[in-house]
Amino acid sequence: MGKRVLVVEDSQVIQRLIEVCLRPAGFDVEVRSDGPSGLEAALESPPDLLVLDVGLPGMDGWEVLSRLRSTERTKDVVVLVLTAHAQEETRAKADRGGADAFLTKPFRPNELRAVAAELTSPGSMIQTAG
Ligand code: CA
Repeated sequence: MGKRVLVVEDSQVIQRLIEVCLRPAGFDVEVRSDGPSGLEAALESPPDLLVLDVGLPGMDGWEVLSRLRSTERTKDVVVLVLTAHAQEETRAKADRGGADAFLTKPFRPNELRAVAAELTSPGSMIQTAG
């Protein structure tokens, strides 16, 4: 059975890109398009990897991350934050918020696939350059 990846991203173009990139690599991809439904899906069934956009309708990615981290069931879920901003401040915010990795949009499909594979391998540690 493939690893479950929950993608919370409001851009349909990026949703498609992520699906096209991860499905052939054997990941089971589920998509939500706004903060509240993404949070709900993650709480209901914690994924092996959460790919989380920052700018989301309803509730932003930072808030989703903070709520997951403060919930026992989801405090250790592996989170990859996607952001359009490469600024140091955003990176620091991702670290403080407890993100496991950070990817700046636009990213290359093979870059996302490599990061996702790395993050879902047991015992792996990764330092992602944005
Ligand atoms: Ca967005």
